[in-house]
Amino acid sequence: MSNNSTATMQQSFPMNGGDGPHSYLNNSHLQRQATNASRIMIEEAIAKKLDVKCFTSNPFRLADLGCSVGPNTFIAMQHIVEAVERKYLAQGLKSEMPEFQVFFNDHVANDFNTLFSSLPTERRYFACGVLGSFHDRLFPESSIHFMFSSHALHWLSKVPAELLDKNSPAWNRGRIHYTSGPEEVSHAYAAQFEHDMEIFLSARAKELVFGGMIVLLIPALPTGIPASHIPIGIMFDLLGSSLMDMAKEGLISEAEVDSFNLPIYATSLEQMTSLVERNGYLIIERMELMDPTSKHVLVSGKDYTMNFRAGMEGIFGEHFGSGIIDEVFDRLHKKTVEFSHQLESSHNEGTQLFVVLRGNDVV
Ligand code: SAH
Repeated sequence: MSNNSTATMQQSFPMNGGDGPHSYLNNSHLQRQATNASRIMIEEAIAKKLDVKCFTSNPFRLADLGCSVGPNTFIAMQHIVEAVERKYLAQGLKSEMPEFQVFFNDHVANDFNTLFSSLPTERRYFACGVLGSFHDRLFPESSIHFMFSSHALHWLSKVPAELLDKNSPAWNRGRIHYTSGPEEVSHAYAAQFEHDMEIFLSARAKELVFGGMIVLLIPALPTGIPASHIPIGIMFDLLGSSLMDMAKEGLISEAEVDSFNLPIYATSLEQMTSLVERNGYLIIERMELMDPTSKHVLVSGKDYTMNFRAGMEGIFGEHFGSGIIDEVFDRLHKKTVEFSHQLESSHNEGTQLFVVLRGNDVV
């Protein structure tokens, strides 16, 4: 059941709502490309591993955890519904084809108005919203057949407390993230992610029907590559140095930078494998690192900057005040131009983790 004390401690920073120039709706094509890159793998998982004969109840319930405002979630949900329909046909169950119900989940502060007012009219599912954190229970026991989450699980439920403690070796002075920081800071982030995932996996295992499936797409750190060499790591460093420049110029204070940390973490294949195994409620059907974009797609500094702004304007505004937002992201954009060689030669291969899980019937 929902635990209010956990829920109130959690932080929530939704993507920019609406359909304006800085909205997530208009600046989420990087996530869209990354989800599209996994299309065939999702189809394969459904075709080969989802045994729809197990499901006796109608409707088929599908959830998107951390859906934001669209359009990415609509594309993903439509794609999954079609793949499941094909699976019913392939298993000779045409007469038992279920109706579909999609639960769009996000934090309560997400712009659900924009989401629901842009629902595709041609959709083949009934739509409803489920408000709340996926770091908590969201659905009744044994009620969801398929759960999906893309580019959302890297958001931690909160900033680890040690990062703000001046007496802790994990005090993250002069930085806003663990990229390029001391080991203690990375460890604090990793520990928070592990705590969050334990809750996430246990909650999802309870909510999944017998025979159900979970597909996750998560930004990740490839084996042996430092966090500061992947595109988002470089962007975090550039953002941090933009803020420190502003502090030196007296536009904000250094103390404000010291007390700000982005609750975002890139896991690894190894860490995620051990977390699922340690939790024990779910079985790994497939887990592998993949490329979020084709090698031929060059993502510009402007694309990254707009994407970051659509996702992080809220969290920056809340800490530093909304008056500095234009300045922060203008500076970030200039830095992406200055350091374009670093971004272009960054390590983008294998920076997305593709995960397929199903219930562990033995537990
Ligand atoms: N899945 C979409 C949106 C990704 S943006 C896509 O691929 O384009 C990440 C979303 O995750 C945001 O809308 C954010 O509010 C949501 N999110 C982050 N932490 C969450 C949590 N604990 N519970 C529910 N949603 C969360």
